[in-house]
Formats: sequence, C-alpha cells, structure tokens
Amino acid sequence: AEAREAYAAKRPRSAAIHARAREVMPGGNTRTVLFYTPFPTAMVRGEGCRLWDADGQEYLDLLGEYSAGLFGHSERRILDAVKAALDRGINFGAAGEKEAELAALIVGRFPSIEQVRFTNSGTEANLMALAAARGFTGRAKTLVMRGGYHGGVLSFASETSPANLPIPLAFADYNDPEGATHAILAEGEQLAAVLVEPMLGSGGCIPASPEFLAALREATRRTGAVLIFDEVMTSRHGPGGLQAMTGVIPDVTTLGKYMAGGMSFGAFGGRRDIMAVFDGHRPGALPHAGTFNNNVLSMAAGCVAMGEIFTAQAAEALYERGERLRAALNAACARAGVAMHFTGRGSMLTVQFRPGPILRPHAATPGEDGLRELFFLDMLAAGLYLARRGMAALSLPVTEAECGRYLAAVEEFIAARRPLL
Ligand code: PLP
Repeated sequence: AEAREAYAAKRPRSAAIHARAREVMPGGNTRTVLFYTPFPTAMVRGEGCRLWDADGQEYLDLLGEYSAGLFGHSERRILDAVKAALDRGINFGAAGEKEAELAALIVGRFPSIEQVRFTNSGTEANLMALAAARGFTGRAKTLVMRGGYHGGVLSFASETSPANLPIPLAFADYNDPEGATHAILAEGEQLAAVLVEPMLGSGGCIPASPEFLAALREATRRTGAVLIFDEVMTSRHGPGGLQAMTGVIPDVTTLGKYMAGGMSFGAFGGRRDIMAVFDGHRPGALPHAGTFNNNVLSMAAGCVAMGEIFTAQAAEALYERGERLRAALNAACARAGVAMHFTGRGSMLTVQFRPGPILRPHAATPGEDGLRELFFLDMLAAGLYLARRGMAALSLPVTEAECGRYLAAVEEFIAARRPLL
C-alpha cells in the first residue's frame, strides 16, 4: 500500500489522464496489459531506450513495447523510411512496390517460410494461419497449450474464457511431450492444426524444451495436422527465429511485433502447398482480405527494419546480451538465496517469485502477485519501465550499461525487500 501511495503521489497528470479516459473507455483502457491499479503511467515521449511520462519523469525502457519496440524510439533510419513513405501518400488501395521486398526478406530468413502474407497484428496472423490449416486439411479442430497466448481472442490462460473465439479446440500441457503426443494422436484426423509458442511469452517467458517441440513435430507428421509456430515474439531470438535455433521446423509460422520497425504488423507464412490455399490464380482460393494488410508505412518501415537494421549479426548480438543479463540476474538471486529467479531466452525475460525450474504457466498465488506488483512499483521508482507482470524485452539501444542498471536495481530490490522474499 505504501509503494502504491508513493507511486500515485508522483503522478498527478497520469491520474488525470486516466480519470478522463475512464469516462469514455471501460476501465479507461484499450489494452488489457496496460491496465493496473490505481492507474497506469501515461507516457508522452520516447527516444532510444528512454521514455518520459506525463509528469516529466524519465525511465529506462526495458519493456520495449512488449517486444514490438525492438528498434527503440525514434530510430533514425525507420523514421526516414516512414517519412519518405508518408510524403508519397498513405495507402493507395492497390498493390504496392514494397510488399514483395519485405516478403522476400522474411522468406530469406525463416526456414519454414516459403511464402508469406501480411496482416495488421499477430492476432490476425494466427487467425489466418488457422484458416490456412483448416482450408488445407479440410479439418476443423486446433490443439493449443494451456496458458498459451496468441492474441486477445486466442488467449488460453483459461480454457473457457468467453473472450475467446468459439472454435473447436483441444488442449495439452506445455512441455509435456508424452501428453501432447497422446492428445494429437487421439484427435487423429479431426485435428487441423497445433498452435504453439516455442517460448511462452505472455505465459511467463517459459522456453519449450527441444523434446517437446520435437514430439509435436513427430505427432503432427503422423496425423497430417499442420504444425504452427507462433513466433510473434520469439522470431527476434535469432536470424531464423527460434525454429532455426531448435532445429524443429514447423509447417507454418506466424510473425508480428517488431518486424515493421514498430508500425502495426503481422504475417503468416509457411509451406508453399499450404499457403497456396490463398493463391487467387487458383479456382476456389480462400479469401484473405484486410484494408491495411499492405499498408505502405508498415511495408516501408519493415524493409528497412529487416533489411538494414535487424541483420543476422544484430539478432545474435541482442540474444547474447539478453543471455548475459539473465545469467547475472539469476546469479544475484542465487547469491542472496531468495525464492526468485528470471525465466526466458535471449532478450526476453520475466521475474518469477518461486523456485525454478518452471516448465509451464501457473496461476499466481496472492503472495506472488503482491510481489510482482511491488517489484514493478520499485522498478518504476528506480526509473525502470517494465511490464506489470515483470517482463522485460530488451531493445537494440539497450547496452551493457543499461543492463547493469537493471541488475543494480534488482540487487537493491532484493536487499530492501528480503524479508518478503
Ligand atoms: N502471439 C504472441 C506470442 C504474442 O505475444 C502476441 C502479443 O503479445 C500475439 C500473438 C498477438 O499479437 P498482436 O498483439 O499484434 O495482435
């Protein structure tokens, strides 16, 4: 309660912005992850890996827009590309000159992607990947993981959420190769697709074991279900995404977040024979429309982002920086002997207030949730901006020095809050 009061006292402008928003938006909010009590901090400016809130306070941005802000704020080459596109006109209701260029960059990078189509968001990418799988197989059902997250209407923290689309589903537990194999074989020829994140993002930055992914590959090969990797978050982990690093190659991959330099983006792609269900040159092609699918700002920014900035070397360097940070954080937790550690891979990590290893998502106990909130508030007080749930997604402007600041803040948190940990 004390930390919450100190938070509110320092943010009168954010409080006023929230109060006004509440009159016209339920909860004063339009993105569930950005809601927290008593009110969220409103940000008004960003540069590199710095953010400024409405009350003039500066933060080190370790959230990186939930992994979409890979390039930091105001990356010069992306701004130039967007401004040049703006000067030529926003969206023409026509094929553009940049979409095949961005498609070629993506096809060149991800082993599973022979052909690709664009959407406006990761959610849509997943919906269209499921449509592709159903169209290709002529089957209806999809197997997903308990605790998986694939977008606002494909959110499986609860199996029965009325917010989810009413599509026929089967469930398996994450990182349970035998259970998932059994579930896939039991569904047999009912099953159109298996949709899985190769590392749970929203579910707590929990990486899949290679055995788990290999089991999904093997079982789907046997039944003919389409294996879909949701790499909306994890594609940043290496030049060819997590699929190239694990060596398990899905049939279809979905992408999103950072790939258009921070502009709205989604994509799904995969085997040529599967993607052919959308080929308008063929009779009976499935529809895949969308006013902003090829919007010129995202396409222009994406070409620069993927072609010039997030090169294979940049992807590898970012991954290694994140691995070093997580190792240092976990060493600090181990030294202190507290029930706290950091899960994740590469540049994405989440704080956990229970001993590891953590193999699958769990409902947070009230104690854990209280510690998550305290951690979030203490980091804000130290000038570090993270997700309320304790996730960080490092952006390219975050250097070793900024990682050092996070480590120091976590060490201070452990020292100050030790009796609670
Ligand atoms: N899939 C994963 C793994 C995600 O983490 C997210 C977003 O957080 C999505 C899909 C949905 O993407 P979007 O928010 O662009 O709809």
